[in-house]
Amino acid sequence: MTARVPPADIGSYWLASCDDDLTPRPALTGDATVDVAIMGGGFTGLWTAYYLLRDNPDLSIAIVERQFCGFGASGRNGGWCSPRFPINPAALTRRFGAATARSMLLAQQAMVDDVGRICDEEGIDAHFRSVGVLTLARSARQLPSLQQSFDAYARLGMGDGCELLGASQAQDAVHATQVHGGMRLRAGGTIHPGRLVRGLARALERRGVRIYEGTEVLQTAAGIQPALITSGGTIRARRAVVLAGEAYMTAQPAYRRRLIPMASTIMLTAPLTAAQWDRVGWSGGECLSSYVHTTNYLTRTADGRILFGSRGAPYRYGSDMDEVALRENANFGWIRDRLTEWWPALDGIEFTHRWAGYLGIPRDWLPTVHFDPVQRIGYSYGYTGHGVISSAICARALAGLIVGRAADPNAPYVRAQAPNWEVEPLRWAGIRYVQNAYLRMDVAEAAKRPPPLDAGLAKFLGEP
Ligand SMILES: Cc1cc2nc3c(=O)[nH]c(=O)nc-3n(C[C@H](O)[C@H](O)[C@H](O)COP(=O)(O)OP(=O)(O)OC[C@H]3O[C@@H](n4cnc5c(N)ncnc54)[C@H](O)[C@@H]3O)c2cc1C
Repeated sequence: MTARVPPADIGSYWLASCDDDLTPRPALTGDATVDVAIMGGGFTGLWTAYYLLRDNPDLSIAIVERQFCGFGASGRNGGWCSPRFPINPAALTRRFGAATARSMLLAQQAMVDDVGRICDEEGIDAHFRSVGVLTLARSARQLPSLQQSFDAYARLGMGDGCELLGASQAQDAVHATQVHGGMRLRAGGTIHPGRLVRGLARALERRGVRIYEGTEVLQTAAGIQPALITSGGTIRARRAVVLAGEAYMTAQPAYRRRLIPMASTIMLTAPLTAAQWDRVGWSGGECLSSYVHTTNYLTRTADGRILFGSRGAPYRYGSDMDEVALRENANFGWIRDRLTEWWPALDGIEFTHRWAGYLGIPRDWLPTVHFDPVQRIGYSYGYTGHGVISSAICARALAGLIVGRAADPNAPYVRAQAPNWEVEPLRWAGIRYVQNAYLRMDVAEAAKRPPPLDAGLAKFLGEP
């Protein structure tokens, strides 16, 4: 049985301010039988229960969570309700055709609004704000990427939801250094994910869902009466068992190569003063980022802090997800330096919280949603860094499959499995190489040096 991790040890500001005392729910003791048994108390597990009950309020559902609801990425993310899919619009169009790409992007955008609406309906005060997304070019070399992204949306007939900003317009929006231009997506929002994940769990309990925390699923049984065999007893399911463990699924032999756990790291400042905000700009509070290979994502919290997220600890051999190593190897110093590079006026600002987490990355960057009606096992995973919204879309699709609804023809993520990642040690060597090359590419660009000679190879290996 995995040791319990107290919420405070994670360091996430979202858990520390989630408006829920995080008292552990009782663990399972003994056997039980329900209609649907779900492993995982993150967004995927909770949204699956939500959508199952929305159309079938009489279903009995149990959720089994090894730690506590919100322990995983759902309680640690950047708070972006991203209107973008893990795969960019041009690549989506190339892979699935224009009609499917458009339909997937529109679904993602619509779900952003749905999440805000559901929070209102359920009385979840999750600080949802419909603020859009602002992507900056912070070097001349990044400008073509803005134009390409805009063109890809325009080709899908979605150009009216986007706006290209020239250098001075973008600088007016955000007073950061090196702002050469920007692109605004009107769709998208920010949310307090801790309040959302904990609030959803409470809303489900009000509808009769039983949630067992501190209970580890050790094995699953498939067939006529599937079951979750847990550390506290067996939960048999009349209709379906759902596996919603995202990056943590890699611990199960059957899913070991279906996705990899990729770490991401976040630092959070103390609330800025009004004078500091004047110097920062960013009064729109958009989901903010720039085109870097090592990724950056910035969120303005409801209480006036800056959340800065970026690359996490290096990939660990065999998809190891050790919590202590995750924190010890997180690149907190790197993030502090990036923040002051964006806004030198914030040099010396206090950081009150720092944390890291794992997100699941499939080999082809497309999530997987599947329900086998014979085995009666369903699963959904692999949202890369867009799971706050993608998890709800995928969970809705999974709930539909469980109750026998046909899959949307424009949902290529409804499939039995993602392509496998390479076996070790090839996987470790390849991922470490790409992580290192991306860092070298960003460092070269920031120093206005030519890209490293292997930049093309790294992009070929690292992009979907
Ligand atoms: C640092 C970071 C920043 C991110 N930023 C964003 C962002 O800004 N916007 C965005 O859209 N997405 C973001 N993401 C991704 C997003 O948070 C995830 O895609 C999403 O939360 C996945 O939800 P989930 O429920 O599938 O997985 P999780 O939240 O990881 O939940 C899985 C749960 O399953 C439980 N579990 C696993 N195995 C077992 C077992 N054997 N028995 C019982 N329970 C088990 C785990 O304890 C865990 O609680 C970020 C992720 C990270 C880590």
